[in-house]
Amino acid sequence: MKPGKVWLIGAGPGDPELLTLKAARALREADVILHDDLVEPAVLDHARPEARRVYVGKRGGCRSTPQAFIEKLMVRLARRGQVVARLKGGDPFVFGRGGEELLALRAAGIEVEVASGVTAGIAAPAALGIPVTHREVARGVAFVTGHTRDGVAPDWSILAKSGLTLVVYMGIATLADIVAGLRAGGMPADTPAAAIQDATRTNARDLRTTLGRLQAEVAAAGIGSPAVLVIGAVCDLAAARAPALAARAAA
Ligand code: SAH
Repeated sequence: MKPGKVWLIGAGPGDPELLTLKAARALREADVILHDDLVEPAVLDHARPEARRVYVGKRGGCRSTPQAFIEKLMVRLARRGQVVARLKGGDPFVFGRGGEELLALRAAGIEVEVASGVTAGIAAPAALGIPVTHREVARGVAFVTGHTRDGVAPDWSILAKSGLTLVVYMGIATLADIVAGLRAGGMPADTPAAAIQDATRTNARDLRTTLGRLQAEVAAAGIGSPAVLVIGAVCDLAAARAPALAARAAA
């Protein structure tokens, strides 16, 4: 029997055109596809019609499929000689648990290959015309999570002084703490900020404001998950609204 393998594939932020050619090829190769909530249905069209599709996300308020179960399933399928595509939103190694899966597969002696994806932390600001490392105003960019399993938050006061653009994933629920932490670290209330929900999808929503007003404006606009927050002077470079998005939303 030919040994199976697992592809860890990034599906990109939403827009099916933001899928890499490598990801499309891996999907065509796959016998089974295990996919998450953040994957647009059109991305699955790259799979062969006869490929099995298994949804392992948490849509509809159900608890997410336990990570251990997903890992065991991948190992079992690959051992049976199947080519498994593990398809995740954005990039599999950016807050996507791709690392855990890689380790579990390696430990089981399963061949793994990665097809990187376009992460939301770059694509969401880009959709508004925000270049996250614009040279004149940012020394770099930090991708941070507002939600950690162990409850230990990033050190906001150090990040406040870093000169880096901050891109916060999963930050809506803890927004008050994030803003308070950055302000306590000395970041000015008038620092430009943006919140971008469902970036690159037809239902995308966004707002630009300042750090000081971010929480109130996110609440007023009802911006919710999945959304990224962008904090830093680069937000001033945003166009009023990405023309492509606006056109598609209107269509
Ligand atoms: N691996 C993914 C991130 C998974 S964590 C990636 O690389 O993009 C889930 C978080 O990603 C969401 O809570 C949100 O913060 C962000 N996210 C994913 N897709 C998004 C989108 N289309 N628009 C805005 N944020 C998104």
